Amino acid sequence: MGNGYLTGCALGIAVLLCIIFYAKGSVDNIETKIFKYMLLLNILESIVTTSIVAVALTINSTLLLTILNRMDVIILTLWCSFFFYYIYNVTNKKNPKKVVKGIAIIDTIICLLALVLDVNIINQDGILNSNGPLTTLGLVGAAFYIALMLITVFMKKKKASSEMQIKYIPLYLLIFMTILIAVLRIVIPEINFISIMISFISLIMMFTIENPDVKMNEQLVLAKLQAEKANHAKTDFLSNMSHEIRTPLNAIVGFSQILAEDKEIPPSAKSQVKDILMASESLLDIVNGVLDISKIEANKLEIVNNEYDLHKILDELVVLTKARIGEKPIELQTHFDPMIPPVLYGDQTRLKQIILNLLTNAAKYTKEGCIEFTVNTVNKEGVCRLIISVADTGIGIKKENIDKLFTKFERFEIEKSSSIEGTGLGLAITKRLVELMNGKIVVQSVYGKGSRFTVAIDQKIVAKERLEEPVPKKKAQNLNGQGKKVLVVDDNPLNLKVASRLLKNYNLQVETVESGQECIDKIIAGEKYDLILMDDMMPRLSGVNTLKKLKEIPTYTIPTVALTANALSGMREKYLADGFDDYLAKPINKKELEDVISKYLVI
Ligand code: ADP
Repeated sequence: MGNGYLTGCALGIAVLLCIIFYAKGSVDNIETKIFKYMLLLNILESIVTTSIVAVALTINSTLLLTILNRMDVIILTLWCSFFFYYIYNVTNKKNPKKVVKGIAIIDTIICLLALVLDVNIINQDGILNSNGPLTTLGLVGAAFYIALMLITVFMKKKKASSEMQIKYIPLYLLIFMTILIAVLRIVIPEINFISIMISFISLIMMFTIENPDVKMNEQLVLAKLQAEKANHAKTDFLSNMSHEIRTPLNAIVGFSQILAEDKEIPPSAKSQVKDILMASESLLDIVNGVLDISKIEANKLEIVNNEYDLHKILDELVVLTKARIGEKPIELQTHFDPMIPPVLYGDQTRLKQIILNLLTNAAKYTKEGCIEFTVNTVNKEGVCRLIISVADTGIGIKKENIDKLFTKFERFEIEKSSSIEGTGLGLAITKRLVELMNGKIVVQSVYGKGSRFTVAIDQKIVAKERLEEPVPKKKAQNLNGQGKKVLVVDDNPLNLKVASRLLKNYNLQVETVESGQECIDKIIAGEKYDLILMDDMMPRLSGVNTLKKLKEIPTYTIPTVALTANALSGMREKYLADGFDDYLAKPINKKELEDVISKYLVI
């Protein structure tokens, strides 16, 4: 009778587990699928063993008992093989098809044998037992799969992660219990512990490794990781693409600059050259934006602090904004706090970029009216809180779009502003930069009336009356490099051509080499130069490493300027820290080039 209670209990547990499992909803992975089948086999096994007890106690039909015993062995074998496959999947996921094939063959053989082998059913004094070849087959099948489980777990190749280690605890317990079932079956054959043990194993699995909530969580973490990985791949791709685009673009900008100043070309062609120059410069802005955002997202963007004069930056910003407004009937009003300290300490390049983005947007998205550019300060304990606000009377932003404003590539009112160029990156970069500088940005806007962007950023106050100005530069038109020799190092022949062409405008003698090593060889050979312009990203020997090697030569004193497409703001400081005397971004800006020439080639 004891048998009846145990199998009945097992059936109750199995049914309850099934209900919970299906009610909760499960994740769609191979382990959980196997577990589903194990639960169903668990129910079948409990039904069969309960039926065996019921038949033995009532009609005691040997035929029926034999059929039920055969079914029991088949179900048990299948359950054991599913359990082994479960463990195999948790432990190592290699070649599951081969394993499935192997399991299918073994299960088929056992099942076929189970249909034909003899069984001896003993039903005496209320004690139900069985022996004979069929019972032995069941035990051998179970023992075989237990052995496979043990081999799988102990032979696992990879060192398990901490999450896997947790999974192994119930696994070890489950294997131990499976062994226990087999031993009990041999030692106390008259009591059928199998059903209750199987249900117990399912119970443990359900509340540990197959817990639907935990599984769902695992899947979410996995999905998040995959999404992050995909995002990184995309960012890397964008960054590489932008970098690749910069090189030919450098040539386009460089040559159109040269052509735009060429006195010999006819005026009609000149206006087209200017259009090419404008188009390539705006393309360059887009590429720089993509590079900036990818750097920010890869956490590679650093804030570089220096002493600076905010008044000077504000004046430059006003000039740039006026140029951007152009012919539009827009009045630019400025209100700058007279209490702005003369010298501040912070990242002036980034600060300028932030404000310029806001001013450019105001100019872009306003047809007429005014732009109000205000800078207020709160100076306290050596820190100046800059409260910068840019208000416009432009198209405004709809309420529902305000939240998406700082999301990259998000643009609104496309149909209205289709003629306005933009990528939807400006504000995303602005927000990230403000946050990098520990500041805040807020926006207020009334659709159709205008918008106001306010940024608050803290900068350190430097106790100085004014910033030391660098030595005044010579006037550009006086630049004449007669008798001076410049070496340009760049692996790209097109870039060498552009640089040489630009330098020859100043009557300089220009030599070019295509690698860092060639440059070192020339210096070792005793060649004399007055200036070296060096690209950084070159194969084999980068510009930075070439310079390091050059500096090992005791007599090396030639001013060396980094000339690189790595033109993100903040790069100047990086290259100066790497030992370069100065930095020129590609495409070469005429004014910056002239500054370098007048500084190092003192003419
Ligand atoms: P872009 O200007 O390159 O499209 P931004 O990131 O700078 O990208 O701006 C995103 C979008 O926010 C713009 O496309 C525009 O729809 C809206 N926007 C930004 N600034 C303003 C403004 N001052 N007035 C109205 N709309 C604006």
